[in-house]
Amino acid sequence: MITNGSKITAVVEKWQNTPEGKKNTVEGIAQALGVPVQDVIGALKRSGHYNGMSDSEIKKSLKVGETLVLKNGKVMTEEEAKGIDWGEIGKNLWKSISEGVQGWWKGLSGDTTFHYFTKISVTNGNPQICYILNKGEGWEPYGVQDNDKAATLPFASYLARVIDDWHKRHPNDPIRINDISRPGGGPFPPHKTHQTGESVDIKFMTTDGKAPAPGAYYECRTYDRQKTEEFLILAIQSVPEGWELRQVNFNDESIIEKYKNIYTNSLGRPIIRYAPGHDDHIDFQYRRK
Ligand SMILES: [Zn+2]
Repeated sequence: MITNGSKITAVVEKWQNTPEGKKNTVEGIAQALGVPVQDVIGALKRSGHYNGMSDSEIKKSLKVGETLVLKNGKVMTEEEAKGIDWGEIGKNLWKSISEGVQGWWKGLSGDTTFHYFTKISVTNGNPQICYILNKGEGWEPYGVQDNDKAATLPFASYLARVIDDWHKRHPNDPIRINDISRPGGGPFPPHKTHQTGESVDIKFMTTDGKAPAPGAYYECRTYDRQKTEEFLILAIQSVPEGWELRQVNFNDESIIEKYKNIYTNSLGRPIIRYAPGHDDHIDFQYRRK
């Protein structure tokens, strides 16, 4: 896992108080980075975020968004890592980081993710868009099913968490999911997005939990605005540190109006927005901040 000239990053995610999030431990970070626990604690102490705390207190007080970087076998704080001349690393940097993050995500959320997603091998396109949503409870497909549910690991982990949380709250209201991306990504007409394994189309919620007939929300007698809002909020609030929902397209104007100043993206724009073609489903677009 450790090679010269590569860099691996571990970030503490925000669901630390969930059973899944209990893996956000010093031991979990050490495992993800492939280093002794003491190296992780040493770096955390140098971060200045845990002044005056003993090792065991630090272990119980990991901060959301805490980021450690591994470079040439040495665990560094984000600040320390900033002083590094990354120029020499060149092209391999992004690959190394994304592999490192993948390793970390696996350790962090593998159980939930692989409850829903199956990893396949992809020979065309981006090999990281290889996690297929094809099992688990709390969701069902809608629309045409044509090899259309391939995600990256970060997005798969996020979506799995949303499905799992929603299913626990609303066991009789399955999330209805259609397109994510093609395996390997790339053009997916008629979509403009859905190319990077980080978009998903989901149906609005209904009062009886049953699949609505095809058509717009305003034509649907069982459209449940309140439940749909609850789902949108869960999805927005489930995004881990360092990522965001760039936009969520759904055309219920009263929802757009209600949340336009409450949920905004890193560019300050409302997350929930009108877009042509989104009267009958919700489109989520996820990205690294
Ligand atoms: Zn879409």
